[in-house]
Amino acid sequence: MLRVEKLEKSFDGFMAVNGVELSLDKERVVAVIGPNGAGKTTLFNLITGHLSPTRGKVWFKNQDITGLAPHRICHKGLSRSFQLINIFPQLTVYENVQVALLSQQKKVLKMLTPSKAMLEEETYSILEKVGLADYAGIQCTYLSYGDQKILEMAIALGNKPEMLMLDEPTAGMSPEETISTLRLIRDLAEKEKLFILFTEHNMNVVFDIAEKIMVMQQGRTIAQGLPAEVRADKQVQAAYLGEES
Ligand code: ADP
Ligand code: MG
Repeated sequence: MLRVEKLEKSFDGFMAVNGVELSLDKERVVAVIGPNGAGKTTLFNLITGHLSPTRGKVWFKNQDITGLAPHRICHKGLSRSFQLINIFPQLTVYENVQVALLSQQKKVLKMLTPSKAMLEEETYSILEKVGLADYAGIQCTYLSYGDQKILEMAIALGNKPEMLMLDEPTAGMSPEETISTLRLIRDLAEKEKLFILFTEHNMNVVFDIAEKIMVMQQGRTIAQGLPAEVRADKQVQAAYLGEES
């Protein structure tokens, strides 16, 4: 599904990503963890085309997507949300998802205009999937921070992806919001048959939900495998010493 080979990104000689390896096959929920500054966001930007790598390759569904423009990668079925909120605050919850759907359908249908009723149905179906249907008519500025982050996921779903990449989906959330967001990630993966790759800096929250975990430190992949293997890894434990307090 996704393969990252010896990926490197240097910013004026500083190696933010330095030989990252990642391979996703049948696992639907995969977490990339690592302390702040480890290179997780840079890795995501490299995979989704928002940055081009200094070296290395990215393969999605056996196609080389290294260095392609973000919208081309998105059309191949790989959609993402950002670590910082990326929605239209003056629009309603409904309108934000509709905008995403419209831009997707324009590309798919080209000449056929999707009927209003169909679009409405699809928008509500996405809002229901993420639990925001009750807030459809609300202007986004009035949503809680946690719900804005969930809306970002809904917008990404509007691109009809096969794989969703979420950069720190639980950042800034309360413990309750974190738990429900992780549950949502698992549900989307199961019910919608989505592949979900997400980053997280607190490793304790991913062990129950991720089928596979990749650990980054200072731009490098230091471990990758089943949650139990990663938890037992001496290098991972050392990387996280003093980090969790
Ligand atoms: P993470 O998401 O794991 O917290 P980042 O990928 O955001 O880590 O950052 C990794 C490192 O790369 C950090 O030291 C950061 O300061 C640096 N970095 C990220 N983006 C840039 C950039 N555009 N220019 C220079 N340095 C950057
Ligand atoms: Mg980050």
